[in-house]
This record gives sequence, C-alpha cells and structure tokens, in this order.
Amino acid sequence: MRIPHSTVPGIVHPALPGRMAALLMSLLYQLDQTQWLTPEALFAEQARQLRVLFAHAAASVPFYGRRFAAAGLDPDAAVTRETLHRLPVLRRSDLQSAGATIGTTALPKSHGKRHALETSATTGAPVSLYGTEITGIFWRACVMREHLWHERRMDGKLAAIRPARPGAAMAPLGLSSDSWGRASGALFPTGPAVLLNAASPLPAQLDWLLRERPTYLISLPSNLAALARLSVEEGVSLPGLEQVMTVGEPVTAALRDIVRQAWDVPLKDSYSCEEAGYLAMQCPEQEVLHVQSENLLLEVVGNDGRPCVPGEAGRVLVTSLHNFATPLIRYELGDLAEVGAPCACGRGLPVIARVLGRAPAAG
Ligand SMILES: [Zn+2]
Repeated sequence: MRIPHSTVPGIVHPALPGRMAALLMSLLYQLDQTQWLTPEALFAEQARQLRVLFAHAAASVPFYGRRFAAAGLDPDAAVTRETLHRLPVLRRSDLQSAGATIGTTALPKSHGKRHALETSATTGAPVSLYGTEITGIFWRACVMREHLWHERRMDGKLAAIRPARPGAAMAPLGLSSDSWGRASGALFPTGPAVLLNAASPLPAQLDWLLRERPTYLISLPSNLAALARLSVEEGVSLPGLEQVMTVGEPVTAALRDIVRQAWDVPLKDSYSCEEAGYLAMQCPEQEVLHVQSENLLLEVVGNDGRPCVPGEAGRVLVTSLHNFATPLIRYELGDLAEVGAPCACGRGLPVIARVLGRAPAAG
C-alpha cells in the first residue's frame, strides 16, 4: 500500500495530501480511466482540449494567428483530424526564426509562472520556449503513472547513471540524496537516490553499482549495453536489482536481451523530450510504447504528410495539449518512429512499436 504525504499536523490516517499531491492524485484517478478509452474517444477528449488551445494560440500568439488565417481555419471551431492536417508542420527552424513571436502575449494567470525549457544543442541551434506550472503538473503525473504502471516500490533505491557536468558525481562516490526527486516525491515518500556521472569509467560504474545495490537503475541505452556486456564478461550479477529504465536513446531488442542475460531483469523504456515532456512510455504488459494522449497529440506521418499505419515508420509530430505559454502545434521533433498495432493489453492509448532515432534533416 502506498500512503501519500499528509500535510495536516496530527492527521496520519487516512493522509490528507497537500495541493500538489492532491492535484496529482486527481489526475492519476482520471488517467487510470482514460487509458482504457477507445482511440476515437481519446481523440474526442483531445479535440475538446485542442479547441481551447487553438483559440488561445490564434488570439494571443501572432505566429499562430497568421498560420490559422493562411490555412483558412476558424480557430474557434470544433477540431477534427481534418483541421490538424490543414495546419502546417512546425519545424525547429520555424521555432528558431519565430523568436519571441511564438510565445503568448496573454498567459492565463491560472497557468502559473512560466519557466524556460532547455533544449539540447546537439541538433543545431537550441530553441527557446517556455513551460508553465500546469505543464509541470502533467509532467509529474506522467512520472507517477510510469512508476504505477511498472509497479515500482517507491521505498526502493533508485540509481541513475547519466551525463552530468564535467567532473561532477564521478566514481567512485557519485552523489546521493534521500529522495527520488521532486516529481516522484511529490505524492509518496520515496527511498534514497544515487547518481553517477556517465563519464565515469565502465569498470568503476560496475563497482559503484555493486556497492550501492540499487532496486532500480536508469541510464542511456548505449551505456547500459556496455555495462551489461561487461557484467556478462566478468560474471557479475546485481543482487536486488528489479528493473532497468532507459531514457534519451532508442532501445533495441538486442539491448533488452543483454540486460536480461546480464542481470535477469526487464527493461522499461520511455520516450520524452524537453519541449513536450513525456511522449510515450512502455506498456505495463508488452514491450511497446503507449502514447501519453492525455498530455499530447502525437502524429506519425510519411514524407507526403499522410498518417502512417501500423508497421510503417514516419516523422513524429507533437502537439502539446496544455502549454499555453509557447503553444507547440504539429511540432516536428526530428525523430522517426514506427506505428504499432493496437496493444493486446486493451489500452486505447496509441502504440509506437519502436523509436528509430533522428530523422534525416527536413527542408
Ligand atoms: Zn499495452
């Protein structure tokens, strides 16, 4: 049983959570139900949200005002798939050249303060955009949904081996903290977390894991593959490890195999980006990714702009449902993904069979 933090002195059972935890619980309650909606019903809910977003974007973002006008679309009208297909794709270069004109001039007060979203500069000039307290809440809800989907014990120890500032969190010590972090810890008390810089030498990473004995390990697929191979070569197992989690790079079947061979644990993948948060996360039952349709509308389209069907790969376009600071409408992320068939688990959330990495540069 998971017991949330209680914020009222003297009340421990049942707990009375604070504002953020209460918001997250109310979202998780809804997400628990919406995951089972049919794709049509999910789109109908997205369309209700998009109608509000499009009206806001056209009225308060000069860039989108011009786009809706050029497409001959009434931004206040009901949203259909036809509406979406008539809106042009938003390229990274569009975002860069739009500068401040892509931001709203009238952020609703209820969305809270805006904060800059950092985007990695690995694919050229970074883009400048903002999130809000509302987008932050949806991000935290997705973090929690992932823990719940994969039945993680929140009192376990979480180890992360990630890129970090040069010289920071290096082996042999790394860094430790008493909580999994703001997103995971907003709702439930958590166990400790430890961090190691992925620039630490591989044998030192393995020694560190053997000393720390984490319950969960998160890292980049390329780093995990090398670590798992080293473990197999040296006959090292990691007692106590229950799951491996991945971020940042595509996962292959070969990676899942070597992780299982090395440590006898499953790999749980997720797909996210700085600009729009969680895009998809691994199904609790199958090795496919479910689009987080309550957070965004994700399209996979061919070079002709037509939606891809199961088995086809295409370019990923994302429309953030809740970002009213820098609306992202049909934003081309630069990734290629393969559409999957409906999932055997019965969830209506669309399926991505696999992410294939960066797409060739678009014109
Ligand atoms: Zn599924």
